[in-house]
Amino acid sequence: MVLRRRWGVRSIALSIGLLISGSAGVVFAAAPVASFEIGAAGGNVPPERGEMEQLSHPAFPGPVVLQIGTSTEGRPINAVHRRGSLNASRTIVAVGVIHGNELHGRLVTDRLMTAALPVDIDLWIVPTMNPDGEVVGSHQNARGVDLNRNWPASWETGTHHSSGRHYSGVAPASEREVQVMMEFFAFVDPAVTVWYHSPWNRIDCNEARVGQTCLDYAAAVGRTSLFSPRPGTATDWLMTAGLGVSFVSEFAAGAPSAAEVELHVNAVLDLS
Ligand SMILES: [Zn+2]
Repeated sequence: MVLRRRWGVRSIALSIGLLISGSAGVVFAAAPVASFEIGAAGGNVPPERGEMEQLSHPAFPGPVVLQIGTSTEGRPINAVHRRGSLNASRTIVAVGVIHGNELHGRLVTDRLMTAALPVDIDLWIVPTMNPDGEVVGSHQNARGVDLNRNWPASWETGTHHSSGRHYSGVAPASEREVQVMMEFFAFVDPAVTVWYHSPWNRIDCNEARVGQTCLDYAAAVGRTSLFSPRPGTATDWLMTAGLGVSFVSEFAAGAPSAAEVELHVNAVLDLS
């Protein structure tokens, strides 16, 4: 898919770095090893996706880190691209953190960076889309907006969305982090996107729209499926925009065991 066909959004800059995995865990290389800018030549005309693929493979030996944008306070928002093979076409996205005080999903995304991949998976890992909130342990972003109420699908203001914990922002997609992710998703065109939250210990499964995909995931991780509609969510926007299916995985409040994390890692790799 080509970005301009769907959204015609402004150009975005991407930086690419190698992912380095060591005994201290997964860290990002300090300096990108390559970079390019979508639409650099023509302003609003991004490259074909194939150009990004060429940069990703086979020129680089391992996972590739792309800085897909920056947060309100200027922190990088990164995506890590891994593929099971050069012909992999099952495009899956996993987002570790959207609410800055719900960090268990990071355990899954960290493992996904080094897990053995099925040959057909085209995997995109976004450790966090809310780095500002994460730094201070805030549910919201640096402007006090709940990033899972700000997406331009069924967006609402008023009542408990006009301020506080579930503040939806001044307008749909008013927040930089949401804009960055919308451009990223339009570029990647995922088949399935899973989002990690806590503490409700279930899979938020809009069965009418997501179908068997999230039911299979729920079964694989041994959790019940329950769906409560909310305005302005990322999952609703993705499915309304025709960018695959999407659902939320809620961990319990306490940190999951390594075995539970592994169930989620395997469930992500099985998504289709
Ligand atoms: Zn949450």
